[in-house]
Amino acid sequence: MHFQLDDQTREFRAAVRAHLDEVITPEFEERIYRSGVAHDDDFARGLVAKDMFAPDGRPLHRQVLQDELMYSDAPVYLSETTRMVAAVIDKAGSPELKQKIIPKAMAAELTIALGFTEPECGSDVAAAKTRAVRCGDDWIINGSKMFTTNGHIADYVFLLARTNPDKPKHKGLTMFLVPLDAPGVEAQAVWTLSGERTNITFYSDVRVGDEYRIGGVDEGWSVLHLALEDEHASGWGPHIARLLDHAERWARETTDAAGSPRIDDPDVRRRLARVAIELEVSTLLQRRCVWMAEQGRAPIAEGPMSKLYSTEALVRAAQDINELVGPDALRSRLEPTAPEEGRFEYLMRFSLGTTIYAGTSEVQRNIIAQRGLGLPR
Ligand SMILES: Cc1cc2nc3c(=O)[nH]c(=O)nc-3n(C[C@H](O)[C@H](O)[C@H](O)COP(=O)(O)OP(=O)(O)OC[C@H]3O[C@@H](n4cnc5c(N)ncnc54)[C@H](O)[C@@H]3O)c2cc1C
Repeated sequence: MHFQLDDQTREFRAAVRAHLDEVITPEFEERIYRSGVAHDDDFARGLVAKDMFAPDGRPLHRQVLQDELMYSDAPVYLSETTRMVAAVIDKAGSPELKQKIIPKAMAAELTIALGFTEPECGSDVAAAKTRAVRCGDDWIINGSKMFTTNGHIADYVFLLARTNPDKPKHKGLTMFLVPLDAPGVEAQAVWTLSGERTNITFYSDVRVGDEYRIGGVDEGWSVLHLALEDEHASGWGPHIARLLDHAERWARETTDAAGSPRIDDPDVRRRLARVAIELEVSTLLQRRCVWMAEQGRAPIAEGPMSKLYSTEALVRAAQDINELVGPDALRSRLEPTAPEEGRFEYLMRFSLGTTIYAGTSEVQRNIIAQRGLGLPR
C-alpha cells in the first residue's frame, strides 16, 4: 500500500489546478459567497467540457480531483449530489429512467438534490413520515423534508417516502425521483451558520408517475444505502490544507508587537505543526478508502473514520487558528481589512456543519463501533 501519486495523476492534478485558477476568479468567489449557494451551471459545464466532472479511471485519480475542488471551495455540492444519484439510478433505476436522467445528469444539464431528512427525523432517517400512496399508475406524495440543500434550484429531488406504514420502519420505504417543478412542491429558505442556503421543502398532493420510482416498492432502504455509503466515505482534509496555508502565510507576513515575524514564535509553530499533523492523518485515512476502492473493497468502517476524523480535525484546527490570530480573525470576508480574506472566520463557522451533514459524528462512531468493531447496538 503506497499513496504516492504517479506521473499521470500528477499531470491530471496540474490540469485541474490550472482550470480552477482560471475560472475561480475573485469576482466569482465573491458571488458564490454572497449567494450561499454551492452551484453554478456554467462552472459545472466547464468541468464537463474538460472531462473533470466525472472522469473515468482510477479512484485515486478521482480523489485528486475531489481534493482540488474542495481545496478551492469550488461550488460543486449540487453536482456531487447529482452524480451520486445518477450512480444510484444506474444501479437500481428502470431502463426508461436511466435513459431520461443519466446522460443529462452527466452533461451537467440536469441537477438532483437529496430529500432524506425530515423536520422530525435526520439521523434516524428510516423513521421518515413523508407518504407516497399508489393511485393507478401514479403516486401521490404528501409530507415535508428538512435541509433539502439546493431544493430551490435543482430539477429533481431524490426522495425517501413511506409507502407502507404497517411494515417495520426500514421495510416500508420507497425511493422516488420527484420533479421539483411538479405542482404541489414548495421550497422555503433556511440559512445556516456558515451562510449557506438550504431549504425546507413541502409536498402537497404531488403526483409522480411510477416511472420515477427507483428500485422496488418498499425496498427503498437498500436503494438509499447505495447513496449513504458514498456520502459517509468523504474526507475533509483539503479544507484543513487550505486553512493551514492561510495560517502559515499570515504567520510569515505579520509581525508581533516587538516587530518579530510571528512564524518565529514557538507557540505559533506548535499550533501550525498540530494542524499539519491532523491534516496528514486526515489525508491518510482518506487515501486508505481510495486504496480499498481500488482493491474492490467497500470502506464500511474506514469511510466513517475518514469523515469523522477529518471533520472534527477541521473544527479543532479552525478553533486553534482563530485563537492564534486573535480578535482580527473574526473579521469577515466582506471587510477589506480581514486577514486572509476572512478565511479564518469563515472556516470556523463552516467547520461546524461538516460534523453534522452526511451523518453526524455520533452516527459515524456508531457505524465504526458496530460494523467495524462488531460491538453490539
Ligand atoms: C448545512 C446542512 C445541509 C444539509 N443538507 C441535506 C440535504 O441536502 N439533504 C438531506 O436529506 N439532509 C441534509 N442535511 C441534514 C443532515 O443530514 C442532518 O442534519 C443530519 O443527518 C442530522 O439529523 P438531524 O439534524 O435531524 O439531527 P438529529 O438526528 O435529531 O440529531 C440530534 C443530535 O443527536 C445525536 N444522535 C442522533 N441519533 C443518535 C444515536 N443513535 N446515537 C448517538 N447520538 C445520536 C446526533 O448526533 C445529534 O448530535 C443537511 C444538514 C445541514 C446542517
